[in-house]
Amino acid sequence: MRVGSVEWTCPFCSLLCDGFALASREGALVLDGSDCPRARAGLVAHQSRGQPEAFVDGAVASLEAGLAEAARRLAQWRQPLFGGLGTDLAGVRALFRLALRTGAICDHADGEALAAGLRALQDRGQFHTTLAEIRARADLLVCVGTDAVTHYPEFFRRCGLDRDDTPCRRLVFLGAEPPTQLPAHMETPRIAGSGDLLADLQQLATLVGAATCRHADQELAGLAQALRAARYAVLVWEAAALPRQGALAVEMLHRIVMLLNRETRAASFALGGSDGAATAQQAFTWLSGLPLRTRLQAADPEHDPVRFAGERLLADGAVDGLLWTWSWTPERLPSVADLPRVVLGPPGMGPRLRQAGAARDCVFLPVATPGLNAAGHLFRTDGTVVPLVAARDDALPGVDRVAASLLEALP
Ligand code: SF4
Repeated sequence: MRVGSVEWTCPFCSLLCDGFALASREGALVLDGSDCPRARAGLVAHQSRGQPEAFVDGAVASLEAGLAEAARRLAQWRQPLFGGLGTDLAGVRALFRLALRTGAICDHADGEALAAGLRALQDRGQFHTTLAEIRARADLLVCVGTDAVTHYPEFFRRCGLDRDDTPCRRLVFLGAEPPTQLPAHMETPRIAGSGDLLADLQQLATLVGAATCRHADQELAGLAQALRAARYAVLVWEAAALPRQGALAVEMLHRIVMLLNRETRAASFALGGSDGAATAQQAFTWLSGLPLRTRLQAADPEHDPVRFAGERLLADGAVDGLLWTWSWTPERLPSVADLPRVVLGPPGMGPRLRQAGAARDCVFLPVATPGLNAAGHLFRTDGTVVPLVAARDDALPGVDRVAASLLEALP
């Protein structure tokens, strides 16, 4: 995207689109060339440019005083949780160092959705593709349990489906309502399925494996045939739209892909990892050898994908302090207000904490939003690292600077 003469990449979901323009009108940034509702909402959420204020228990404080008090409190917690983790690569790396020093357990705000894909990957491996590969080669796209575009509005355009010369000839929706606006030049059938996605995927896997299947669903049998006949089929799934026991659905998707790859070519494509989730997962894994939901400690980091789920720890009262980081929408507050908290968020989050009655026992430190008023890097959902540029300068510190200052200030 372009802001005036500056290239810009949208940070508001993990597609990280870079094909539109961003214009400045009457002091507000507006999207030009796309009607993406998610991007527009992201820009509107950051429209206000009021004076950023740190606070300590609701009382306005300088950033320096807020940092000193936050470090003092953080040092007293015996078992902190670093939650949210909604930041960019530099922010995650700085939080990692702080977590290592304080022995914190770390999980992203959308850790539950991340965990399903990770579990399936750990158990069985995967064939995963990229947006570029879909654009260049996929001739059949199957959206499984998702319409894809409700949460990732530009997905079909990123796959090149709006172009007449796309190799994609068929876009199938399995167990999901197709969106209203679909490419006019290709077949877009819907397969309702039984209402039980796990059972439908199990049957589809059996049919793709060419085993006989008594009382087979004829639409699923037709889909299995189309998958086998395709030169390059891609099964698209959305982490946040999976049913309970989502890892099982992902494992079955991978199994179908593996069966297809015996004779033809196929891959899966996950929609997820927005708001820095994919970035945090990648960075933690390469820095510690373990993914999120790990208690970091220098001697012996401990990973437990179930016990160390952030929301579970909070619900069980298993942590005595929360450092919540969320650089994106100011509305996403920590889910608890009765636990000591240090909150790193955009300036608009401070007033919301006060309005929600969540300012007691809380230090709030305003931070920049990567891709809006700070440069940075994020992982795209297909694993590509994408640079972000600032669309404006609000003279706010990034999460990396704030976390590094907290580390320095620890007694
Ligand atoms: S699809 Fe995502 S990255 Fe693309 S413009 Fe919309 S919010 Fe931004």
